[in-house]
Amino acid sequence: MAPQDVTSHPMMARLVQAVGTENVLTSAEDRAFYSHDVYRQMATPLAVVRPGSIEELARIVGMATAEGIAIVPRGGGASYSDGYCATTENSLSIDTTRLTRIDINERDMTATVDCGVTWADLYENLRKKGLRTPFWGPFSGLKATVGGSMSQGSVSLGSGLFGPSADSVLAMEVVLADGSILKTGSLAAANGRPHFRHYGPDLSALFTGDTGAMGVKARITLRLMKKLPVVMSASFGFANFESMASGMEVAAKEGVVSDNFGLNPRLQKAWLGRTNMKQSLDAAFAVYKTARNPFEGLYKLVRMAVAGKSFLDKSEYSAHFIVEGVDVDHARSLLAAVRRAVEPHGVEVPNTIPTVVRSMPFMPLYPIIGPAGERWVPLHGILAFSQVKTFHDKLTALHAKYASEMERLKIVSAAMFTTISTTSFLYEPVFYWQDKRHLYHDRYLPQEFLAVLPTYDENPEARAKVEEMRDAIRDAFASCGGVHMQVGKSYPYMKGRDPRNAEMLKSLKSLLDPKRLMNPGSLGL
Ligand SMILES: Cc1cc2nc3c(=O)[nH]c(=O)nc-3n(C[C@H](O)[C@H](O)[C@H](O)COP(=O)(O)OP(=O)(O)OC[C@H]3O[C@@H](n4cnc5c(N)ncnc54)[C@H](O)[C@@H]3O)c2cc1C
Repeated sequence: MAPQDVTSHPMMARLVQAVGTENVLTSAEDRAFYSHDVYRQMATPLAVVRPGSIEELARIVGMATAEGIAIVPRGGGASYSDGYCATTENSLSIDTTRLTRIDINERDMTATVDCGVTWADLYENLRKKGLRTPFWGPFSGLKATVGGSMSQGSVSLGSGLFGPSADSVLAMEVVLADGSILKTGSLAAANGRPHFRHYGPDLSALFTGDTGAMGVKARITLRLMKKLPVVMSASFGFANFESMASGMEVAAKEGVVSDNFGLNPRLQKAWLGRTNMKQSLDAAFAVYKTARNPFEGLYKLVRMAVAGKSFLDKSEYSAHFIVEGVDVDHARSLLAAVRRAVEPHGVEVPNTIPTVVRSMPFMPLYPIIGPAGERWVPLHGILAFSQVKTFHDKLTALHAKYASEMERLKIVSAAMFTTISTTSFLYEPVFYWQDKRHLYHDRYLPQEFLAVLPTYDENPEARAKVEEMRDAIRDAFASCGGVHMQVGKSYPYMKGRDPRNAEMLKSLKSLLDPKRLMNPGSLGL
């Protein structure tokens, strides 16, 4: 069947019956949009289905797989590792964004959410009750869903102390390939309630980071904690990468930093350079609102205005640390521990960047396009601290090798860094290159924002060079024992894997998805 002519497919009438006409998208434009993630395009699905309840989700999955049609789940669509891009046109893209129920149980300190709930919505609902989840979202949380983050792994807000998204899970309900629902954690016990994860073998772990290869997460229960009321931050400038990495490492080991991130010079400028007048005013207002009294608010505003962006010119690299306390003294003492640890490595500078980040933790997806309208793609690896310098040296050598080609093709790279808990360093190289925008960008970014940016023709040569460098970087990560979240179909998850481990994973995949229809290609399974 020609991909343009899908309305006569025998499944369509049944899908429409299950979820209603308006929730089965079959136009060429819609299907093209869902075939593209932030980075690239793959197979065009037969249709996009938007279930409105968990029961509808389960029915659709069972119905499709019975007919040999693949299931490709998509949450907020804010990823760039081919995770929700189909490998076959004989697929249904399952858009989960109508699944938005949030149940907060203050007595049991749990929140059970549908997979399509965004982190921003969850945070807002919990904030009103003085609560939050330990990991409380990626920066993309205005779009990114709890289901998407749990399925591919996510870090940022809260992960300095509480680790990646998966570490905040207590229990799940997962739709399996046959349309049945599997419960995990204490929810699966007799008269189970979703308050405890580890009752016998931890089946939740099989689905966190599976990028949809094992099942579709339907509902997820997360642990709650009180939202700590006092937030303080400190920023440091560093002479070079090595001192920044050392500063971030020692800060992480203090075990007190909630969120942290390091920026190389190019990204520092991009982060502040992007701040337009409206965003600056919004941020200033938000900063003012977070002050405990009008005098402190004014002080914070004046400090931001005076410090401005100028300090960045003096430092090569910067790192930013955010702590949270039950009261001012508590937060101050945590920040003092960070300062004591980091001061031997860098120089403290005004905390403009973390102040703005914490005033607007969930950002619109403006970074999916470069400052001059270029295409954008990050990749990352999570390293043991002992391997960070080795990896950095390898990356520096790669940049030297590709320098003239990058210059000729106008490919630019930058990097961002974060530590996760007390053990890991996430290194995130980012590429920008001049290339044609896609429908994805047009739908995800405001027209007034795009209108003022330059546009480019298709640039397959630069695109191929970026992919070649990404391959080389993935190899460099692997050579240092680096691992990845967001595996999707992009990271070589099965390559070089311990044979017993690989065998076990393949057996589990065969058990759960014997026809190989759950997001085929994910995890390389
Ligand atoms: C501007 C920007 C900032 C970002 N910041 C961060 C950050 O701070 N930290 C970070 O870790 N990442 C970040 N990301 C990457 C990404 O947004 C996150 O990893 C996020 O968790 C993706 O969630 P999503 O709902 O958009 O997932 P999607 O992109 O929709 O899907 C991701 C994967 O999960 C699968 N999936 C989705 N829902 C389900 C489900 N219910 N069941 C099974 N599988 C499912 C998909 O098939 C796909 O493989 C950022 C991205 C952008 C564009």
